[in-house]
Amino acid sequence: MIKRLNFLSQIMSYRANLIFAIIIILGLLLSCISSYMLYNNEIERKFSELSQSAKFDNIIMKHTLENTIEAVRSITKLYGASDYVSRMEFKRFSSVEILYQKNIQAVSWVPRVNFSQRKRFEATARSDGLVNFSITEKSKVGVIVNADQRDEYYPVFYIYPSKGNEAAIGFDLASNPSRLATLNKARDTGELQFTPRLTLIQEAGNSYGILVVLPIYNDINIPKSITDRQDEIKGFATGVLRISDILLNRSKDANSKSYVFDLSANKGQQVLFPKGSDIQDLTDIRLEACIKTAIEIGGRTWISAHCDKRYFNLLKRHLTSVIVFLALSIITVIVAFYLRYAIQQENERKEASAQIIQASKLATLGEMATSVAHELNQPLNVIRMAAGNSRRMISKGTATCEYLNAKLERIEEQTARAAVIIDHMRMFGREAKEEVEPINPRVVVTNALGLMGEQLRLADIEIVTEFSEDCLLILGHSIQMEQVILNLLTNALDAIAESEGEKKITLRVFKDDKGVHITAEDTGSGIPEDLLPRIFEPFYTTKEMGKGTGLGLSVSYGIINDMNGTLVADNIDGGARFTITLPRVS
Ligand code: ADP
Repeated sequence: MIKRLNFLSQIMSYRANLIFAIIIILGLLLSCISSYMLYNNEIERKFSELSQSAKFDNIIMKHTLENTIEAVRSITKLYGASDYVSRMEFKRFSSVEILYQKNIQAVSWVPRVNFSQRKRFEATARSDGLVNFSITEKSKVGVIVNADQRDEYYPVFYIYPSKGNEAAIGFDLASNPSRLATLNKARDTGELQFTPRLTLIQEAGNSYGILVVLPIYNDINIPKSITDRQDEIKGFATGVLRISDILLNRSKDANSKSYVFDLSANKGQQVLFPKGSDIQDLTDIRLEACIKTAIEIGGRTWISAHCDKRYFNLLKRHLTSVIVFLALSIITVIVAFYLRYAIQQENERKEASAQIIQASKLATLGEMATSVAHELNQPLNVIRMAAGNSRRMISKGTATCEYLNAKLERIEEQTARAAVIIDHMRMFGREAKEEVEPINPRVVVTNALGLMGEQLRLADIEIVTEFSEDCLLILGHSIQMEQVILNLLTNALDAIAESEGEKKITLRVFKDDKGVHITAEDTGSGIPEDLLPRIFEPFYTTKEMGKGTGLGLSVSYGIINDMNGTLVADNIDGGARFTITLPRVS
């Protein structure tokens, strides 16, 4: 028995470890999945924040650029309306435009001046009030000097507002190759063009600027062919933009950064904003979390990029998900250990209760010994008599074949009867099987009565059975169930033996909507009310030493409980009643 229990406990602890491992694996998997989802969610949330602000900023930027373009376009209209625009007229007209377009640094009129016209042009300007006027350019060392000799000049002539922009007057836009290329492109296409970035002559702060350029021809209409356009070009209306002015609302948050690049510019000169950072070109951005938006404007491709440094900070970025992962993992481990502990405790309890059941069963076997001895005695007596009679007849010589045959049949019958009793005893002594099976409570009660019947008869006790006609089935171990009935019968027998009056035990099996009930009623004067709560306690007995173990009811209670049923005791008129209720299978 010990060996079997050891094997059983090995299986149980194997099961506990298996459950432990499964919980650990599932728990860790769950922690991984949830922290990964959280991490993704966080990233998505941040990205959507970033793209929201990018969207908003880009709308503002586009709007500001369009306003600027509008202002420059209106200057071309002014030149379309009259052949000659005086400095005063330009000033009056532009002041209104600038008033409305706050983000433009300046608008200007840039005429075409051929080399042959230069001297006269400069003289006229001087006499017109620009005392020191000459066409200028930037020297290699960055100083403003008189412009070199060339075929065509595009000097800034009128500029509004003139205040703060004085240095730009006379500056030849053709002095710089990339700027000249933009002017030529505007002239040849007849369309608006943006220059590459430039450091504005009037710039005191730290921003790049660009020029918005629109061609103005001698004729109000744009000439059809390129050569005509080149011949007919009169000058350009330009708008001066500081890039930082069109990015007014960009977030100043330390973690987020805005960039604007001019992809149409040469490598190393693409960044338009911010000025003076390490980043020169779009490809220099190493931050992975950037929303990049392309803007096609003024014949160029700009990229507006919104980046967030936070995504680069690995620890911070993963912190929440790492915490969640750790927390869930710790919880998993705690739960797994707790469950393993609980299962092991439960296993130990089961083992202990299996041992108690077995011990109590053996005790019952002992108690039943008289009854069983009597049961066996009967067939043995019959066998002895049959054998004795046969022997006598044979020795007298009167034994006929029929007579002997009848006696041997009797012996055979009685041997079979004894074998049934012994079989049943053996079965009862065996340990209960692990699996439950459908059992018929009527059969169980009948078997128990078979074992105890003689004892009860000897004590002069009347047995009444009332079995429901239905075939009722319950799930359990028939031997254990039999043990319960035997315990109840033994207790009833003891109680009746102690009391005077009627001696009767009534056993009933019936069903109702709560399940299957087995009741045992006796006339043994009942259980004192104050003892009722205690009788199911292990080792609680009121019987004299050597008679009661105090295990019968507690073991029975445990067995019924394991079968998901209940065992309750109450008093009825003149005795005690024990009621077993079990779930019905069919
Ligand atoms: P034991 O029979 O060995 O004492 P049990 O656990 O079977 O142990 O019973 C505990 C106690 O419950 C008994 O000692 C007795 O006092 C009481 N008891 C059990 N059945 C009856 C009954 N049918 N009538 C009166 N008292 C009972």
